[in-house]
Amino acid sequence: MRSFLITMLLASCFLKVEAQKTYLYCGQLIDVEHLQILKEKTIVVEGNKIIDVLDGYAKAGANDKTIDLKTSTVMPGLMDMHVHIESETSPSHYLDEFTLNTADYALAAVPIAKTTLMAGFTSVRDLGGSGANISLRKAIHKGYVVGPRLYTAGKAIATTGGHADPTSGYREDLMGDPGPKEGVINGVEDAYKAVRQRYKEGSDVIKITASGGVLSMSANGQNSQFTDEEIKAIVAAAKDYGLKVAAHCHGAEAMKRAIKAGVNSIEHGTLMDEEVYPLMKKYGTYLVATMIAGRSSMDSAKIPGYFPPMVAKKALEIGPKSQSNFARAYKEGVKIAFGTDAGVFKHGKNWLEFKYMEEAGMPVIEAIQSATWNAADLMGNRSILGSIEKDKLADIIAVPGDPTKNVELMGQVNFVMKDGIVYKAK
Ligand SMILES: [Zn+2]
Repeated sequence: MRSFLITMLLASCFLKVEAQKTYLYCGQLIDVEHLQILKEKTIVVEGNKIIDVLDGYAKAGANDKTIDLKTSTVMPGLMDMHVHIESETSPSHYLDEFTLNTADYALAAVPIAKTTLMAGFTSVRDLGGSGANISLRKAIHKGYVVGPRLYTAGKAIATTGGHADPTSGYREDLMGDPGPKEGVINGVEDAYKAVRQRYKEGSDVIKITASGGVLSMSANGQNSQFTDEEIKAIVAAAKDYGLKVAAHCHGAEAMKRAIKAGVNSIEHGTLMDEEVYPLMKKYGTYLVATMIAGRSSMDSAKIPGYFPPMVAKKALEIGPKSQSNFARAYKEGVKIAFGTDAGVFKHGKNWLEFKYMEEAGMPVIEAIQSATWNAADLMGNRSILGSIEKDKLADIIAVPGDPTKNVELMGQVNFVMKDGIVYKAK
Protein backbone atom coordinates (compact mmCIF):
# COMPACT_ATOMS: atom_id res chain seq x y z
CA MET A 1 0.00 0.00 0.00
CA ARG A 2 2.76 2.36 1.02
CA SER A 3 4.75 1.76 -2.16
CA PHE A 4 1.57 2.29 -4.18
CA LEU A 5 1.07 5.70 -2.57
CA ILE A 6 4.68 6.67 -3.20
CA THR A 7 4.36 5.62 -6.85
CA MET A 8 1.19 7.70 -7.21
CA LEU A 9 2.87 10.68 -5.60
CA LEU A 10 5.89 10.46 -7.91
CA ALA A 11 3.64 10.04 -10.94
CA SER A 12 1.65 13.13 -10.03
CA CYS A 13 4.90 15.10 -9.78
CA PHE A 14 6.00 14.07 -13.25
CA LEU A 15 2.57 14.51 -14.77
CA LYS A 16 2.18 18.01 -13.40
CA VAL A 17 1.34 20.14 -16.43
CA GLU A 18 3.36 23.33 -16.59
CA ALA A 19 1.25 26.51 -16.58
CA GLN A 20 0.89 27.99 -20.04
CA LYS A 21 3.19 30.91 -20.66
CA THR A 22 2.99 33.59 -23.33
CA TYR A 23 6.14 34.52 -25.24
CA LEU A 24 6.07 37.98 -26.78
CA TYR A 25 8.66 38.44 -29.52
CA CYS A 26 9.55 42.14 -29.55
CA GLY A 27 11.43 43.67 -32.49
CA GLN A 28 12.05 46.73 -30.34
CA LEU A 29 11.45 47.10 -26.63
CA ILE A 30 11.57 50.44 -24.80
CA ASP A 31 13.55 50.47 -21.58
CA VAL A 32 11.72 53.41 -20.04
CA GLU A 33 13.97 53.64 -17.01
CA HIS A 34 17.19 54.13 -18.98
CA LEU A 35 15.61 55.77 -22.04
CA GLN A 36 16.89 53.23 -24.52
CA ILE A 37 15.49 51.02 -27.23
CA LEU A 38 16.46 47.37 -26.97
CA LYS A 39 16.39 45.11 -30.04
CA GLU A 40 15.05 41.56 -30.36
CA LYS A 41 13.77 40.65 -26.92
CA THR A 42 11.34 38.08 -25.59
CA ILE A 43 8.94 38.92 -22.76
CA VAL A 44 7.66 35.85 -20.94
CA VAL A 45 4.27 36.26 -19.26
CA GLU A 46 2.64 33.77 -16.92
CA GLY A 47 -0.73 34.56 -15.39
CA ASN A 48 -0.83 38.30 -14.86
CA LYS A 49 2.93 38.73 -14.39
CA ILE A 50 6.06 39.22 -16.42
CA ILE A 51 8.26 36.32 -15.34
CA ASP A 52 11.26 37.02 -17.58
CA VAL A 53 12.72 39.31 -20.22
CA LEU A 54 15.17 37.41 -22.43
CA ASP A 55 17.65 38.33 -25.19
CA GLY A 56 16.71 37.25 -28.71
CA TYR A 57 13.61 35.28 -29.61
CA ALA A 58 13.56 32.51 -26.99
CA LYS A 59 12.02 29.15 -27.82
CA ALA A 60 8.60 28.58 -26.29
CA GLY A 61 7.49 25.24 -24.83
CA ALA A 62 4.97 23.02 -26.62
CA ASN A 63 2.11 24.27 -24.44
CA ASP A 64 3.05 27.93 -24.59
CA LYS A 65 1.60 30.70 -26.70
CA THR A 66 3.67 33.02 -28.86
CA ILE A 67 2.85 36.54 -30.06
CA ASP A 68 4.81 38.03 -32.92
CA LEU A 69 5.59 41.72 -32.40
CA LYS A 70 8.85 41.60 -34.37
CA THR A 71 7.93 44.59 -36.54
CA SER A 72 6.55 46.57 -33.60
CA THR A 73 7.91 48.65 -30.74
CA VAL A 74 6.81 47.26 -27.40
CA MET A 75 6.53 49.34 -24.23
CA PRO A 76 4.84 49.26 -20.85
CA GLY A 77 1.10 50.00 -20.82
CA LEU A 78 0.56 53.76 -20.95
CA MET A 79 -0.71 55.61 -17.88
CA ASP A 80 -2.72 58.82 -18.14
CA MET A 81 -2.59 60.77 -14.88
CA HIS A 82 -5.57 62.99 -15.59
CA VAL A 83 -8.82 61.81 -17.14
CA HIS A 84 -12.52 62.20 -16.43
CA ILE A 85 -13.76 58.78 -17.41
CA GLU A 86 -17.43 59.37 -16.72
CA SER A 87 -18.05 62.06 -19.25
CA GLU A 88 -17.14 63.55 -22.58
CA THR A 89 -17.32 67.10 -23.87
CA SER A 90 -20.54 68.18 -25.56
CA PRO A 91 -22.55 71.39 -25.82
CA SER A 92 -25.18 69.80 -23.53
CA HIS A 93 -22.63 69.31 -20.73
CA TYR A 94 -24.02 72.13 -18.59
CA LEU A 95 -27.55 70.76 -18.82
CA ASP A 96 -26.43 67.23 -17.89
CA GLU A 97 -26.24 68.30 -14.23
CA PHE A 98 -30.03 68.42 -14.28
CA THR A 99 -30.85 65.49 -16.53
CA LEU A 100 -28.41 62.71 -15.65
CA ASN A 101 -28.51 60.40 -12.64
CA THR A 102 -25.45 58.62 -11.28
CA ALA A 103 -26.47 55.45 -13.13
CA ASP A 104 -26.52 57.41 -16.40
CA TYR A 105 -22.93 58.52 -15.81
CA ALA A 106 -21.93 54.98 -14.91
CA LEU A 107 -23.34 53.45 -18.07
CA ALA A 108 -21.98 56.22 -20.28
CA ALA A 109 -18.55 55.44 -18.85
CA VAL A 110 -18.63 51.81 -20.06
CA PRO A 111 -17.71 52.47 -23.72
CA ILE A 112 -15.31 55.22 -22.64
CA ALA A 113 -13.39 52.76 -20.46
CA LYS A 114 -13.03 50.37 -23.38
CA THR A 115 -11.95 53.10 -25.80
CA THR A 116 -9.29 54.23 -23.33
CA LEU A 117 -7.85 50.74 -22.89
CA MET A 118 -7.84 50.05 -26.63
CA ALA A 119 -5.85 53.28 -27.14
CA GLY A 120 -3.07 51.68 -25.07
CA PHE A 121 -3.82 53.29 -21.71
CA THR A 122 -3.78 50.37 -19.30
CA SER A 123 -3.92 52.63 -16.20
CA VAL A 124 -5.58 55.98 -15.70
CA ARG A 125 -6.02 58.35 -12.82
CA ASP A 126 -9.56 59.67 -12.85
CA LEU A 127 -9.55 63.11 -11.27
CA GLY A 128 -13.15 63.77 -10.40
CA GLY A 129 -16.69 62.86 -11.33
CA SER A 130 -20.08 62.02 -9.89
CA GLY A 131 -18.96 59.12 -7.73
CA ALA A 132 -19.95 56.54 -10.37
CA ASN A 133 -16.20 56.38 -11.07
CA ILE A 134 -15.69 54.35 -7.88
CA SER A 135 -18.33 51.82 -8.97
CA LEU A 136 -16.73 51.71 -12.42
CA ARG A 137 -13.37 50.82 -10.86
CA LYS A 138 -14.99 47.91 -9.04
CA ALA A 139 -16.80 46.77 -12.20
CA ILE A 140 -13.55 46.78 -14.21
CA HIS A 141 -11.78 44.93 -11.44
CA LYS A 142 -14.48 42.26 -11.36
CA GLY A 143 -14.39 41.91 -15.15
CA TYR A 144 -17.91 43.20 -15.78
CA VAL A 145 -16.53 46.08 -17.81
CA VAL A 146 -13.48 46.23 -20.09
CA GLY A 147 -11.28 49.14 -19.14
CA PRO A 148 -7.96 50.34 -17.75
CA ARG A 149 -6.80 49.99 -14.17
CA LEU A 150 -8.73 52.85 -12.65
CA TYR A 151 -7.37 54.96 -9.82
CA THR A 152 -10.08 57.43 -9.01
CA ALA A 153 -10.56 60.52 -6.87
CA GLY A 154 -14.32 59.97 -6.65
CA LYS A 155 -15.63 63.50 -6.26
CA ALA A 156 -13.13 66.36 -6.39
CA ILE A 157 -12.79 68.78 -3.46
CA ALA A 158 -13.40 72.53 -3.88
CA THR A 159 -14.39 75.52 -1.76
CA THR A 160 -17.76 77.28 -2.08
CA GLY A 161 -18.06 78.72 -5.59
CA GLY A 162 -14.78 77.01 -6.49
CA HIS A 163 -13.92 75.23 -9.72
CA ALA A 164 -15.28 71.84 -8.59
CA ASP A 165 -18.29 73.18 -6.66
CA PRO A 166 -20.91 71.36 -8.74
CA THR A 167 -23.50 74.06 -8.05
CA SER A 168 -21.55 77.09 -9.32
CA GLY A 169 -23.57 79.11 -11.80
CA TYR A 170 -26.84 77.27 -11.19
CA ARG A 171 -30.10 78.25 -9.47
CA GLU A 172 -29.73 78.03 -5.72
CA ASP A 173 -33.19 76.60 -5.18
CA LEU A 174 -32.37 73.73 -7.53
CA MET A 175 -28.80 73.03 -6.40
CA GLY A 176 -28.63 74.00 -2.70
CA ASP A 177 -25.43 74.64 -0.79
CA PRO A 178 -23.27 71.49 -0.75
CA GLY A 179 -20.83 70.67 2.05
CA PRO A 180 -17.77 68.48 2.60
CA LYS A 181 -19.65 65.25 1.98
CA GLU A 182 -20.19 66.43 -1.61
CA GLY A 183 -16.65 67.80 -1.76
CA VAL A 184 -17.22 71.47 -0.94
CA ILE A 185 -15.27 72.71 2.07
CA ASN A 186 -14.72 75.91 4.03
CA GLY A 187 -12.13 75.69 6.77
CA VAL A 188 -9.87 73.09 8.30
CA GLU A 189 -12.57 70.91 9.87
CA ASP A 190 -14.40 70.60 6.57
CA ALA A 191 -11.11 69.73 4.86
CA TYR A 192 -10.65 66.75 7.18
CA LYS A 193 -14.27 65.71 6.79
CA ALA A 194 -14.06 65.84 2.98
CA VAL A 195 -10.89 63.72 2.83
CA ARG A 196 -12.27 61.21 5.31
CA GLN A 197 -15.48 61.02 3.29
CA ARG A 198 -13.47 60.26 0.13
CA TYR A 199 -11.58 57.54 2.04
CA LYS A 200 -14.87 56.08 3.26
CA GLU A 201 -16.29 56.02 -0.25
CA GLY A 202 -13.17 54.34 -1.64
CA SER A 203 -11.22 57.05 -3.46
CA ASP A 204 -7.66 56.16 -4.45
CA VAL A 205 -6.39 59.73 -4.64
CA ILE A 206 -7.53 63.18 -3.50
CA LYS A 207 -8.18 65.86 -6.10
CA ILE A 208 -8.53 69.52 -5.14
CA THR A 209 -9.26 72.50 -7.34
CA ALA A 210 -6.76 74.92 -5.83
CA SER A 211 -7.47 77.66 -8.35
CA GLY A 212 -10.27 78.69 -10.65
CA GLY A 213 -10.66 76.73 -13.85
CA VAL A 214 -11.85 77.08 -17.39
CA LEU A 215 -14.99 74.98 -17.68
CA SER A 216 -16.80 75.99 -14.47
CA MET A 217 -19.38 78.76 -14.63
CA SER A 218 -17.46 81.36 -12.67
CA ALA A 219 -15.68 84.52 -13.68
CA ASN A 220 -12.05 83.75 -12.87
CA GLY A 221 -9.98 80.87 -14.24
CA GLN A 222 -6.93 81.30 -12.05
CA ASN A 223 -7.74 82.82 -8.63
CA SER A 224 -6.59 81.04 -5.44
CA GLN A 225 -9.51 79.17 -3.93
CA PHE A 226 -8.07 77.54 -0.80
CA THR A 227 -6.29 79.14 2.14
CA ASP A 228 -2.86 77.81 3.16
CA GLU A 229 -4.49 76.23 6.21
CA GLU A 230 -7.13 74.47 4.14
CA ILE A 231 -4.63 72.93 1.71
CA LYS A 232 -2.30 71.91 4.55
CA ALA A 233 -5.24 70.22 6.28
CA ILE A 234 -6.17 68.36 3.08
CA VAL A 235 -2.62 67.10 2.62
CA ALA A 236 -2.26 66.12 6.29
CA ALA A 237 -5.60 64.27 6.27
CA ALA A 238 -4.73 62.55 2.99
CA LYS A 239 -1.38 61.43 4.46
CA ASP A 240 -3.19 59.87 7.41
CA TYR A 241 -5.05 57.64 4.97
CA GLY A 242 -2.15 56.95 2.58
CA LEU A 243 -3.70 59.01 -0.21
CA LYS A 244 -1.82 61.30 -2.59
CA VAL A 245 -3.08 64.74 -3.54
CA ALA A 246 -3.47 66.15 -7.05
CA ALA A 247 -4.06 69.90 -7.25
CA HIS A 248 -5.74 71.53 -10.23
CA CYS A 249 -4.09 74.97 -10.61
CA HIS A 250 -3.87 77.55 -13.35
CA GLY A 251 -2.74 80.54 -11.26
CA ALA A 252 0.78 80.85 -9.81
CA GLU A 253 -0.26 81.84 -6.28
CA ALA A 254 -2.50 78.78 -5.97
CA MET A 255 0.40 76.61 -7.19
CA LYS A 256 2.77 78.04 -4.58
CA ARG A 257 0.32 77.35 -1.75
CA ALA A 258 -0.30 73.81 -3.01
CA ILE A 259 3.36 72.95 -3.59
CA LYS A 260 4.43 74.24 -0.17
CA ALA A 261 1.60 72.31 1.47
CA GLY A 262 3.05 69.14 -0.10
CA VAL A 263 0.66 68.10 -2.88
CA ASN A 264 2.09 65.42 -5.19
CA SER A 265 1.16 66.95 -8.53
CA ILE A 266 0.11 70.21 -10.08
CA GLU A 267 -2.51 69.61 -12.74
CA HIS A 268 -2.44 71.97 -15.76
CA GLY A 269 -0.05 74.46 -14.08
CA THR A 270 -0.69 76.85 -16.95
CA LEU A 271 0.35 80.25 -15.60
CA MET A 272 3.60 79.50 -13.75
CA ASP A 273 5.83 82.40 -12.76
CA GLU A 274 9.57 82.44 -12.11
CA GLU A 275 9.18 81.30 -8.51
CA VAL A 276 7.17 78.20 -9.35
CA TYR A 277 9.78 76.21 -11.30
CA PRO A 278 12.42 76.11 -8.52
CA LEU A 279 9.70 75.48 -5.94
CA MET A 280 8.44 72.42 -7.82
CA LYS A 281 12.00 71.11 -8.10
CA LYS A 282 12.65 71.69 -4.42
CA TYR A 283 9.49 69.84 -3.35
CA GLY A 284 9.69 67.18 -6.09
CA THR A 285 6.20 68.07 -7.30
CA TYR A 286 5.12 66.60 -10.62
CA LEU A 287 3.60 68.69 -13.40
CA VAL A 288 0.73 67.03 -15.28
CA ALA A 289 0.32 69.57 -18.05
CA THR A 290 -2.77 68.39 -20.04
CA MET A 291 -1.87 70.53 -23.08
CA ILE A 292 -4.45 68.78 -25.22
CA ALA A 293 -7.18 70.08 -22.90
CA GLY A 294 -5.96 73.65 -23.30
CA ARG A 295 -5.96 73.29 -27.08
CA SER A 296 -9.25 71.49 -27.45
CA SER A 297 -11.21 73.80 -25.16
CA MET A 298 -9.77 76.71 -27.11
CA ASP A 299 -11.07 75.08 -30.33
CA SER A 300 -14.50 74.39 -28.80
CA ALA A 301 -14.68 77.99 -27.56
CA LYS A 302 -14.52 79.18 -31.17
CA ILE A 303 -17.72 77.25 -32.00
CA PRO A 304 -20.62 79.66 -31.31
CA GLY A 305 -22.84 78.40 -28.48
CA TYR A 306 -20.59 75.46 -27.51
CA PHE A 307 -19.70 77.01 -24.13
CA PRO A 308 -21.48 79.69 -22.07
CA PRO A 309 -19.81 83.07 -22.92
CA MET A 310 -18.06 83.21 -19.53
CA VAL A 311 -16.40 79.84 -20.15
CA ALA A 312 -15.50 80.61 -23.77
CA LYS A 313 -13.69 83.76 -22.64
CA LYS A 314 -11.54 81.83 -20.13
CA ALA A 315 -10.81 79.04 -22.64
CA LEU A 316 -9.47 81.58 -25.14
CA GLU A 317 -7.31 83.29 -22.49
CA ILE A 318 -5.82 80.25 -20.78
CA GLY A 319 -5.69 77.58 -23.52
CA PRO A 320 -2.97 79.21 -25.65
CA LYS A 321 -0.53 79.45 -22.72
CA SER A 322 -0.40 75.76 -21.88
CA GLN A 323 2.24 74.59 -24.34
CA SER A 324 4.76 77.39 -23.86
CA ASN A 325 4.50 76.89 -20.10
CA PHE A 326 5.15 73.17 -20.50
CA ALA A 327 8.18 73.88 -22.71
CA ARG A 328 9.65 76.13 -20.04
CA ALA A 329 8.90 73.76 -17.14
CA TYR A 330 10.54 70.89 -19.03
CA LYS A 331 13.60 73.01 -19.76
CA GLU A 332 13.83 73.99 -16.09
CA GLY A 333 13.92 70.32 -15.09
CA VAL A 334 10.51 70.08 -13.41
CA LYS A 335 9.37 66.45 -13.03
CA ILE A 336 6.76 65.62 -15.67
CA ALA A 337 4.04 62.98 -15.60
CA PHE A 338 1.80 62.41 -18.60
CA GLY A 339 -1.83 63.53 -18.35
CA THR A 340 -4.46 64.78 -20.73
CA ASP A 341 -7.78 65.74 -19.05
CA ALA A 342 -9.54 63.30 -21.42
CA GLY A 343 -13.26 64.00 -21.26
CA VAL A 344 -12.60 67.68 -21.94
CA PHE A 345 -11.89 66.27 -25.43
CA LYS A 346 -12.94 62.94 -26.99
CA HIS A 347 -11.63 59.92 -25.10
CA GLY A 348 -9.19 57.77 -27.04
CA LYS A 349 -7.27 60.72 -28.42
CA ASN A 350 -5.08 60.88 -25.32
CA TRP A 351 -2.02 60.06 -27.46
CA LEU A 352 -2.08 63.57 -28.97
CA GLU A 353 -0.44 64.80 -25.77
CA PHE A 354 2.73 62.94 -26.90
CA LYS A 355 2.72 65.01 -30.06
CA TYR A 356 2.35 68.28 -28.14
CA MET A 357 5.10 67.24 -25.75
CA GLU A 358 7.43 66.59 -28.68
CA GLU A 359 6.49 69.94 -30.25
CA ALA A 360 7.38 71.60 -26.94
CA GLY A 361 10.89 70.15 -27.03
CA MET A 362 10.59 66.85 -25.14
CA PRO A 363 11.93 63.83 -27.06
CA VAL A 364 9.24 61.17 -27.64
CA ILE A 365 11.10 58.57 -25.59
CA GLU A 366 11.03 60.91 -22.59
CA ALA A 367 7.32 61.57 -23.17
CA ILE A 368 6.79 57.79 -23.09
CA GLN A 369 8.84 57.66 -19.88
CA SER A 370 6.54 60.31 -18.39
CA ALA A 371 3.54 58.08 -19.24
CA THR A 372 5.05 54.95 -17.69
CA TRP A 373 8.03 55.17 -15.34
CA ASN A 374 7.20 58.66 -13.99
CA ALA A 375 3.45 58.08 -13.85
CA ALA A 376 3.97 54.93 -11.79
CA ASP A 377 6.20 56.94 -9.45
CA LEU A 378 3.52 59.63 -9.08
CA MET A 379 0.91 56.99 -8.28
CA GLY A 380 3.23 55.21 -5.86
CA ASN A 381 3.02 51.85 -7.62
CA ARG A 382 6.31 51.61 -9.47
CA SER A 383 7.07 48.32 -7.71
CA ILE A 384 4.34 46.65 -9.81
CA LEU A 385 3.86 48.89 -12.86
CA GLY A 386 5.60 51.41 -15.10
CA SER A 387 8.25 49.26 -16.83
CA ILE A 388 8.72 45.86 -18.43
CA GLU A 389 10.64 43.95 -15.81
CA LYS A 390 10.53 40.56 -14.16
CA ASP A 391 7.84 40.28 -11.46
CA LYS A 392 5.90 43.36 -12.58
CA LEU A 393 2.30 43.13 -13.78
CA ALA A 394 1.91 42.25 -17.45
CA ASP A 395 0.59 45.57 -18.79
CA ILE A 396 2.20 45.74 -22.22
CA ILE A 397 1.38 47.57 -25.45
CA ALA A 398 2.93 47.94 -28.90
CA VAL A 399 2.85 50.25 -31.88
CA PRO A 400 3.73 49.37 -35.50
CA GLY A 401 7.20 50.84 -36.15
CA ASP A 402 9.36 53.23 -34.18
CA PRO A 403 7.42 55.98 -32.34
CA THR A 404 10.64 57.80 -31.44
CA LYS A 405 11.02 58.52 -35.16
CA ASN A 406 7.31 59.11 -35.83
CA VAL A 407 5.17 60.22 -32.89
CA GLU A 408 1.95 59.62 -34.88
CA LEU A 409 2.46 55.90 -34.24
CA MET A 410 1.40 56.50 -30.61
CA GLY A 411 -2.08 56.89 -32.08
CA GLN A 412 -1.87 53.48 -33.80
CA VAL A 413 -1.53 51.08 -30.88
CA ASN A 414 -1.80 47.55 -32.33
CA PHE A 415 -1.37 45.41 -29.23
CA VAL A 416 -2.78 45.77 -25.72
CA MET A 417 -2.24 43.37 -22.84
CA LYS A 418 -3.51 44.24 -19.36
CA ASP A 419 -2.95 41.99 -16.38
CA GLY A 420 -1.71 39.25 -18.72
CA ILE A 421 -4.88 39.30 -20.85
CA VAL A 422 -4.69 40.30 -24.52
CA TYR A 423 -7.38 42.87 -25.39
CA LYS A 424 -6.08 43.90 -28.78
CA ALA A 425 -3.80 42.18 -31.29
CA LYS A 426 -3.77 43.00 -34.96
ZN1 LIG B 1 -9.59 67.75 -15.18
